[in-house]
Amino acid sequence: MPPRLLITAGPTREYLDPVRFITNRSTGELGLALAEEARRKGFRVTLLLGAVDAPRLRGIRVLRFETTRELARLLDREFRHVDALLMTAAVGDFAPARPSPRKMRRASRLTVRFRQTPDLVARVAKRKGRRIVVGFSLETEAWRGRARAKKRAKQLDVLVATRVAGSRDPFGARPMDALVLNGEAEHFHPRVTKPRLARLLLRILVRRLAASRRWRNW
Ligand code: C5P
Repeated sequence: MPPRLLITAGPTREYLDPVRFITNRSTGELGLALAEEARRKGFRVTLLLGAVDAPRLRGIRVLRFETTRELARLLDREFRHVDALLMTAAVGDFAPARPSPRKMRRASRLTVRFRQTPDLVARVAKRKGRRIVVGFSLETEAWRGRARAKKRAKQLDVLVATRVAGSRDPFGARPMDALVLNGEAEHFHPRVTKPRLARLLLRILVRRLAASRRWRNW
């Protein structure tokens, strides 16, 4: 049996009321590229996909989420059945503390209190056993230092960091600067396209899976 991969992609939405939400600029491109490439390589792929337009994906099991809570539920259910998790989803760090059950009325001013969302990847990584967990990060500054700290704090096997800086903007179909922290090794890939980065990451994953006896002959 080929290894099973769980990939999360896209933004989360946190509702203020039944019709309004806060979200982020994630397009899910990297996660979609990873899912396609993984399927081509023969992995069994489950993709947890946020609210983005996506092409019809053949041979990939796709489950949709909107909010962080929905993603958390799916992750908790699916993680135990896979050999590796690639957490590209841009999970919102804050959600409205008390979303309104009714549409909020127009007013001259609005104050919203936010609460912190749970760190989903850190939570599942605590019980990963022999599973491989790959995290992603996006920073506007101090990206190398923060990437190293994040990898340690979240108990990730691999962390892929990127940055938004001046003309460098990793959202959507553009190439991105990627710093790959794989165990103790660090590799910088300037202006790499997402399909290329996806191939590179899957090679790392195949090598890591082969190192654990189960997949030696896969
Ligand atoms: O801490 P930061 O949000 O930069 O970490 C990014 C990584 O952590 C990504 O892999 C993202 O999917 C994951 N994450 C998460 N739960 C959160 C925030 C981020 O799993 N609440």
